[in-house]
Amino acid sequence: MKTNNKKGVHCSFCEKYQDKVDYIITGKNSNICNECVEVCRQIIESKTPQTAIGNFDVEVDLLTPKEIKGKLDDYVIGQEEIKKILSVAVYNHYKRLNHNLSKTKDVELEKSNILLLGPTGSGKTLLASVLAKTVNVPFAIADATTLTEAGYVGDDVENILLRLIQNANYNIKNAERGIIFIDEIDKISRKSENSSITRDVSGEGVQQSLLKIIEGTTASVPAKGGRKHPQSTNITIDTKNILFICGGAFVELEGIIKNRLNKTVIGFKSQLEDVKTSDTNILEETIPEDLMKFGLIPEIIGRLPIVGALQELSESELRDVLLKPKNSIIKQYKILFEMEDVELIITEDAIDKVISMTKALKTGARGLRSVMEKIMFKLMYDLPDYSEKKLIVDSNVIERESKKKNAA
Ligand code: ADP
Repeated sequence: MKTNNKKGVHCSFCEKYQDKVDYIITGKNSNICNECVEVCRQIIESKTPQTAIGNFDVEVDLLTPKEIKGKLDDYVIGQEEIKKILSVAVYNHYKRLNHNLSKTKDVELEKSNILLLGPTGSGKTLLASVLAKTVNVPFAIADATTLTEAGYVGDDVENILLRLIQNANYNIKNAERGIIFIDEIDKISRKSENSSITRDVSGEGVQQSLLKIIEGTTASVPAKGGRKHPQSTNITIDTKNILFICGGAFVELEGIIKNRLNKTVIGFKSQLEDVKTSDTNILEETIPEDLMKFGLIPEIIGRLPIVGALQELSESELRDVLLKPKNSIIKQYKILFEMEDVELIITEDAIDKVISMTKALKTGARGLRSVMEKIMFKLMYDLPDYSEKKLIVDSNVIERESKKKNAA
């Protein structure tokens, strides 16, 4: 039986001491508290197929902001400013978590969720997922457009939490400090022109439901997903330490910001020099009022205090995305070819061609993979029969392969 001389017995699962729980049941080599018994009951009732489930402590890797930024650099090209903002935000988040868990705290630190604005394929989802990997916490992605207000047809907001729980192998304690990325948050804005007077139920209702889990609540999640009903077994999860990162393209936000900045220029001519409307990323000028005009409810805006804008990737950054990240697309193809003892060489002019084809798709770096897949598809189909030691892909090969239909 595990004991501690000063504080008595503690639970071997969650490590809480006797004074923090109602009961601790002691066994030969370990102990369990009533709260962990309850989690076990929920897991068993949910008939979850996983074998490794529980409520155990998994260390969060507390790295410094510079170390976090260094890891982001390995995978994410460009977006220097936002990488720094995120590194500090994540560092503070997990520091805050440790502080609030400590016995001596007299000030409870509030969490700061994050809003990422930026065009599609600029790396919003990638940043969130690399961050989660870097600090070693569970991660889940949700699409705001699939969510509906409770009572309507569609995904309950709680299902986002189920995804996180599943990705944490049903370790609730670990899920409770994970990261959730909610994509396309801009698509659930209020639809009305004058958002302060007319209330748009569809967008606003979903925002209200999201607000609850973002600000921190004890949510009851149907263990099997889908809608809640009286017979379903629910898993309880506290969302107060989950870090939410919301992302969206916020296309019409640019106009709103420009309008405001122009008005400022008329009112206060002396600020003229400060107003940036053309060459810089206008989304960097976002203030909460702009987001409200856009159609986010003030409560959601208040819960997303860290706002960062991503830039559209330039041509040279797209080139870097192809070549530089630790798991870059070209590195991956090279490995696939190496496995058949063929050296894959992609020439500079071939890369130029891929970049210009990707630019035409207007989906940022997202387009790189589809362009490359289409080109490499037939080459890989023939690869097992290939007798040469080298395969050189130049712009002519790109031209030829990209014109072929996929069904080879
Ligand atoms: P977003 O969420 O902004 O629409 P994603 O993060 O989903 O974009 O990007 C789609 C894919 O494009 C990623 O999986 C990654 O392969 C690539 N990508 C996008 N931006 C970057 C970037 N800045 N650095 C490296 N790869 C990127």
